Amino acid sequence: MNPPRSAYLHIPFCHRRCFYCDFAVIPLGNSAREESGPGVASINSYLDLLHREISMCPLGPPLSTIYIGGGTPSLLNSIQIDSLLTHLKKKFGLQSGAEITMEIDPSTFIKGDIEAYGLIGINRLSIGGQSFNDNLLKKIGRLHSSEHLLQSCEWVNEAYEKGVFHSWSLDLIQNLPEETLSSWSHQLKYAIGTGAPHLSIYDLVIEPETVFGRKYLKGELGLPTEELSEEINISTGKILKEAGFARYEISSYSLPGHTSRHNRMYWSGSGWWGFGMGSTSAPWGQRLARPKTIVSYRNWILSQEREGVDPTLSLVNAQPMPLDELLMIGLRRREGVHLESLAISSGWNKEECDQYLSLLIESWSEFLLNGLLIEQAGRFFLSNPKGMEVSNQVLIQMMIWWDSLPMNVGSAPNP
Ligand code: SF4
Repeated sequence: MNPPRSAYLHIPFCHRRCFYCDFAVIPLGNSAREESGPGVASINSYLDLLHREISMCPLGPPLSTIYIGGGTPSLLNSIQIDSLLTHLKKKFGLQSGAEITMEIDPSTFIKGDIEAYGLIGINRLSIGGQSFNDNLLKKIGRLHSSEHLLQSCEWVNEAYEKGVFHSWSLDLIQNLPEETLSSWSHQLKYAIGTGAPHLSIYDLVIEPETVFGRKYLKGELGLPTEELSEEINISTGKILKEAGFARYEISSYSLPGHTSRHNRMYWSGSGWWGFGMGSTSAPWGQRLARPKTIVSYRNWILSQEREGVDPTLSLVNAQPMPLDELLMIGLRRREGVHLESLAISSGWNKEECDQYLSLLIESWSEFLLNGLLIEQAGRFFLSNPKGMEVSNQVLIQMMIWWDSLPMNVGSAPNP
């Protein structure tokens, strides 16, 4: 288990909840930015909890990546963000050249805010654009328009070209309602035209407890058919490849030198600190999820202050990360996983590897035969684009295999 050199901070506030989103967020409506309004009071009281959580966390090595995500972190002003960064730096220290990313939403900032983020040490921005189509933006419940988005990209790219930021990224969602192959290729052309050196392209996922979940059940969403989605997904890889982007993970594409170090950390199975409502951490191999509502998060902080921090946060309770989790995250990467090395790093002994890994490989035989999964010298990776598109099926097969294993695999000491 690599020690935690990364930290994630969750800022749960949004203007309102987008129709597809089931994240741990607190919608503030228009009060988010009103001086001394209820939104500002909510933000201040949450930041107090976040600082208290950082304060009581055990120490760890200096950080090499920090990611401020949400929610909508750009609802905070640069002084509030600066104070969080300063706290993390004092607590853990910061490696030189550390990557510090912040998510921003086009409806929440002006040009001056971008410059201010650069001045406090943010060196990578990630814009939640989702679409350049105004009808679609309305349909998915976003507040910004395509004009807002293009303007935001222009400001950020200008700052990037001046050297204020090392890199920046734009998020889009593919397979939205009524998407066609040609409308999607226009979306990608807009995205490429912004100059973003990193693109995250997410598939729309229908979550049951959302507006989209309810519309889906009533058959009102008008989603692309399965065949069309597949064509759209394959066209994404093709168009971005022609534009010079490499796909280094299922949803992530970058120009040379612009992969996200923070994302790669998650997929490499390293440890990380997570702070804030609903966030997850796994500093020393064991996962810890914080409560997803503000009341339960506050109670959790109070109980930690009273009774001491959760044992999973202490180095003395370090454990190897379970193999199913390592496989789940490792198979998302272009380079895939070396099965046996991963099993051994997860605490398996050689006999267990010999006995059980062959069963996993057997369960993947059809994917291997069809070239969706490729094996080279013990390393398994999804082919691009076909294999990446069926990653879920490969992972489901892995989970079935995992559930079939005896409980004690991986718990015997290595000889
Ligand atoms: S802005 Fe992002 S986090 Fe907030 S509701 Fe929309 S999708 Fe969810």
